[in-house]
Amino acid sequence: MLSDVGAKAIRLRIADLFVMVQVGPFEVDLVPKPSWGKKVSTILGGRKWRNIRKRELDRVRNRCEICGQEGEPRELICHELWEYDDANHVQRLRGYNVVCRGCNLIYHLGYAASNELANEAIEHFSKLTGLGFREARELLNSKYRELIQIHKERSKHDWKIDVSLESAGR
Ligand SMILES: [Zn+2]
Repeated sequence: MLSDVGAKAIRLRIADLFVMVQVGPFEVDLVPKPSWGKKVSTILGGRKWRNIRKRELDRVRNRCEICGQEGEPRELICHELWEYDDANHVQRLRGYNVVCRGCNLIYHLGYAASNELANEAIEHFSKLTGLGFREARELLNSKYRELIQIHKERSKHDWKIDVSLESAGR
């Protein structure tokens, strides 16, 4: 399943114009600059967020959804998944992935690179995909460049944040 890792660069859903970059088993987006800090926890409040996080960790029985690694609840990250409607500039919450530290670094390649965690991210990705270290590094680098391009374009706009996934009575 992971052998064709480099095959699809950008997955384009023509119908709704949502663009996402497939990085191995990860669907990665960079949050546009104007939306930085607009997380579920800040929008819905800490108490609601703690409930959501607990619900999600229970759902996956404290295992990373990507690599399967088991972890203490405090070590796992409840990663928010958004989709970006590039035609209407709506950023919509579509769910969560509970991930371990290593997998979370893949979601945050920019953070990893700027905090000298790049090698840890590459090693984890290499283990996950079976790619050699150098190959994994090259793939992550090229994906990151794609992500940055999309990110630059999206950062030119203000986004309406849609968390109706949670507000709709869940
Ligand atoms: Zn993981």
